[in-house]
Amino acid sequence: MGSVQIVTTILAAAITAVAVWLAVRAVLKMVAVIRLGQPAPERFTDKITRARTMLVETAGHTRMLKWGVVGAAHWFVMVGFVVLSLLVLEAYFEVVTTDGGLPIIGHWTIFGLVTEIIGVLGLVGILVLMAIRLRNRPTRPGGRSRFTGSTMWQGYFVEWIVLLVLIFGFVIRGFKVATDHFEFPVWATPVSHAVGAVLPAWADGVSVAAAIKIIISMTWLIVISLNVTMGVAWHRFLAFPNIFFKREPARPAGSGLGALRPMTSQGKPLDFEEADPEKDQFGVAHVEQFTWKGLLDFSTCTECGRCQSQCPAWNTGKPLSPKLLVLSLRDHAYAKAPYLLAGGGKDLTGEEKATQAQLAHLDVLALAEADKPLIGTAEEGGVIDPDVLWSCTTCGACVEQCPVDIEHVDHIVDMRRYQVLIESSFPSEAGVMLRNLENKGNPWGAPQNTREDWTKGLDFEVPRVGEVDDFEYLFWVGCAGAFEDRAKKTTRAVATLLNEAGVSFAILGEGETCSGDPARRIGNEFVFQMLAQQNVETLNEAFEGREKAKRKIVATCPHCFNTLGNEYGQLGGEFEVVHHTQLLAHLVATGKLTPVQPVDGGVTYHDPCYLGRHNRVFAAPREVLGDAIEGDLTEMPRNSERSFCCGAGGARMWMEEKIGKRINVDRVEEAMATGARTVAVGCPFCSTMLNDGVNGKGAGEQVEVIDVASVLLRSVKPQQPQGGKETTPVGG
Ligand code: SF4
Ligand code: SF4
Repeated sequence: MGSVQIVTTILAAAITAVAVWLAVRAVLKMVAVIRLGQPAPERFTDKITRARTMLVETAGHTRMLKWGVVGAAHWFVMVGFVVLSLLVLEAYFEVVTTDGGLPIIGHWTIFGLVTEIIGVLGLVGILVLMAIRLRNRPTRPGGRSRFTGSTMWQGYFVEWIVLLVLIFGFVIRGFKVATDHFEFPVWATPVSHAVGAVLPAWADGVSVAAAIKIIISMTWLIVISLNVTMGVAWHRFLAFPNIFFKREPARPAGSGLGALRPMTSQGKPLDFEEADPEKDQFGVAHVEQFTWKGLLDFSTCTECGRCQSQCPAWNTGKPLSPKLLVLSLRDHAYAKAPYLLAGGGKDLTGEEKATQAQLAHLDVLALAEADKPLIGTAEEGGVIDPDVLWSCTTCGACVEQCPVDIEHVDHIVDMRRYQVLIESSFPSEAGVMLRNLENKGNPWGAPQNTREDWTKGLDFEVPRVGEVDDFEYLFWVGCAGAFEDRAKKTTRAVATLLNEAGVSFAILGEGETCSGDPARRIGNEFVFQMLAQQNVETLNEAFEGREKAKRKIVATCPHCFNTLGNEYGQLGGEFEVVHHTQLLAHLVATGKLTPVQPVDGGVTYHDPCYLGRHNRVFAAPREVLGDAIEGDLTEMPRNSERSFCCGAGGARMWMEEKIGKRINVDRVEEAMATGARTVAVGCPFCSTMLNDGVNGKGAGEQVEVIDVASVLLRSVKPQQPQGGKETTPVGG
């Protein structure tokens, strides 16, 4: 060992010792913070499926690759990080001796070849990612980007480190080539040989370059250890557990977001018959009341901003960005952690848990952070502004896009639950809807005995459950379908088509009540459970004696479709629920319905969030339209899983939209830009929102917003009087 190697070895050992010590400290701190969260025992079920899902999602980059170039570039950088870590390890042998290398595999040509290929592709990948970050920098001319609000220096820092480590990998090899210490052939390592051709034959170059590579790598480790909230770096490690512990890992890829997380206290679902707000946690009032998985979510965020770029609230100038929400919760959790770890915190009656002595030596910043309300305005020092909380439409675009499976919607609804159930603090205009749900069983407050009024004027009898001996489908009409004028047309169209196709179906009529979706999404789990339990009881009675496969329900409202199909199981109601577009597509495909006159004038289709993104029903409505219209469907730029919300989900239908541009107007502009004269929808709420948007633009005469079922009915029964006037019942 020469004098240069003595210096490089000491340097490498010293910086590594410091880095490892800091990293261990950082990991212990992160684990301690995450453990502050509430129990979530359901995250430990089915470990094999979880492991498989984690491997598929990470190795396959299932979310990222949907972003084309950036996904591919990130994949190579990720693989480069894993494989080329071996080269960092090898550098520890190279600082000691100029011809050092990894024992055993370090001499295999295949090792030389693989690391060479990954090194080159990693270099290309990181340059692409750097270019993308620069091109999308928030300060660029032209407005907000997905990186707006991200900690940009951290992203640049990580990218430069990766670039330099990769470059020094080739420099080390180049010096080995130049000094004849390189054993891999040119065909396997052409870039290394090319670099060697331009480097001097400096004998100590290998050790010096290896030391620099180690110093760069350890500088990275030191910086991230001193910044435990640096998700852009930590996600390299945290993404694996975060995906492993994701909600519903068994849901087949591409089958939608699934049910909302039930309200839990101490890890157990809350039963309102026994729940006590002084003993049980009602939603989330403090950051430590999220589960540990929630705190892991916040720690894992890479600040990539994919969620933000798709969020309808953010894109229409509202203060909500799912990324910024997650970052605020993360920063708050880590800043408050010293207080919590010292024994601080409020019990469920609001009393401080810690003694004076426990808090005596605490940092004032941690104490100040602990005093912040989780939900509050800037003047109140709140972590999350109420306008942020109430802007969410629960459209799921953020969850859909997040490459590390962060569960924004569950966290947002958990915070809403506390605000609604304990604080009674929510946009006042939604109070009418909640009162109507409690008192009348529907958000409009319509008398229950008018639920069947939509059947009037039909030229066939609509059977009721109990009046017919048997039926194949229970037609779940929904509140909109029963009471809202436009939606009633869809209900009649569906009933007419089912009758035409000879499908045996029956309705609950006055036995039906609201599915509970708006109550659940606004955070009123109590009202949701009240309504849902009543419906589950009614439905179980209607299907008594039938196995699940024969408990078939067809729903026209995607919110009912989602709630009945995905969420009633939490309350003992297991049903096979289809959306009417799925059943209609099947009836057309099997020849039970025959479109005879194509609808012309151009048609575009708006994917409802709770049908498309939440439940992955993209094809059926398009199949129906494909059979019913002239020419091809004209797609909007944002369609299918990247569809843009209409603005009504998450109970936003019942709240005023006071901030920014109206979401429905944004969507309508996109629809109208296609030139289509018909905007087909599959949801009564989308129908209302888009109709309002079209009328607001004064385009009601040129553009018509109607349900897919009504388009099909026009094609199947063109002679039937239809059209825009409610006084002309479809099918009647
Ligand atoms: S669910 Fe939709 S509206 Fe809510 S934060 Fe996510 S993207 Fe935004
Ligand atoms: S929440 Fe997910 S999608 Fe959004 S910035 Fe963080 S990692 Fe990216």
